[in-house]
This record gives sequence, structure tokens and C-alpha cells, in this order.
Amino acid sequence: MTKILIVEDEQPILTGLRDNLEFEGYEVETADNGTDGFRKISNEEFNLVLLDVMLPGMSGLEICKQARKKGIEVPIIMLTARSEELDKVLGLELGADDYITKPFSLRELLARIKAILRRTARKGNQADQSSYVTIGLLSVSFDDFDALSGNEQVKMSHKEFEILHYLYKNAGRIVSRDDLLDAVWGLDYQPTARTIDNFILRLRSKIDTPATQHIITVHGIGYKLVL
Ligand code: CA
Repeated sequence: MTKILIVEDEQPILTGLRDNLEFEGYEVETADNGTDGFRKISNEEFNLVLLDVMLPGMSGLEICKQARKKGIEVPIIMLTARSEELDKVLGLELGADDYITKPFSLRELLARIKAILRRTARKGNQADQSSYVTIGLLSVSFDDFDALSGNEQVKMSHKEFEILHYLYKNAGRIVSRDDLLDAVWGLDYQPTARTIDNFILRLRSKIDTPATQHIITVHGIGYKLVL
């Protein structure tokens, strides 16, 4: 059953949302202050969280930020009473999936909830949690030689997978070009350092965002993958 947590301190809104979501067939859990809300998000499994911004105890923005910091990936829709653009952006930068400004229509909220649940269900199906790891923009399964960016398949050659896998196994450590040569190409064929650099360039173009570089060049030595 799909379980939704509502964290909202205004009782009429909380009750209204709970009744309507239960009517839609969702299992609903509630918290009327930030402290309780954060505890529930931390300790229980939910499919989605509706999170008010202004809460006694701990603000919704803080809850969102702390939850993401702890690695909790539950989809979060922020409910904000303040319509300033900044609040919305803040909410999103803190790792929220969506936001909706009060007063909102129930129909719109339900549509957003359904859209997010559909999205996560699809991701869940394609990216079986056990075998996929996140590296920059990509979800990668080294077992299946599969790479996804969002729900889109990303083309990667066998060698690119092997190089990335080796870097991943050694994440946080410096890997020399010689290490890569031995691990990926073995003894029968030795590509030039330039070839390796080109593979790295191609991998970077698939993994990195403009703001973050995950494969770091260690000059004169090799590379380091930073997750
Ligand atoms: Ca509030």
C-alpha cells in the first residue's frame, strides 16, 4: 500500500489532506510539528512526504535538508504558504522533488502526487536498488552493463563500463594509468595514455554536471573518482 506522510501544523489543512488522501486509497500518517515529522521521516518508510515549510520545532526546509543529508531519498513535496520565488527555489535546492503554494487545489495536489509516485515506481522497476549505483548523473549497473540518466538509457561502451567500474571500486583513491591498463586491457593490448584520457573524457561527459566533476585528474599520476 502506498504510504504518505503529511507534516503540517494547521489542523484543518492536516485533517482535510488526510481525509482526502485516505479517500484516494493511500495509507496516511501525520505529524503536526517539525520534530515529530523529522523523526517519522528518519525512522519509517514512506512512498512520499507532504512537508509544510513553516512548522513549529523544525522548519520544513531544515527537515528536507537534514533528511537528504542522511541519505533518505523519499520524494518530498513542499507545501508553502509564502509565494516568494526564493522559498520555492530554496525548497528545491534542498532536495525537494516538487512544491505547491497554498492555497492549492486538491486536484492539483493529487495530480502532482500521482506524477511523482509514477516516476519513482518507474525508476524502481528499471533500477533495481541492489545492483544500481549512483555516479554523478548516472545510475549504473555494472552487472547488466546498463546506465541510466533519469529514466533515459545512456549509451556506454564495454570498455567505458570497465574503466568506470575499476574507478568505482577504488573510489576516493588515486588510480594510476598503469593500474587502469592492467585492470581493463590486460597484457595483450596496451593503448596509449592518450587513449585512456579520451575514454575518461567520454565518461566525464556522461557523468558530470557543469557544477561537479566526479573524475578528477591527478596530474602526472592518473585519476580519482569522487562520488
Ligand atoms: Ca505551517
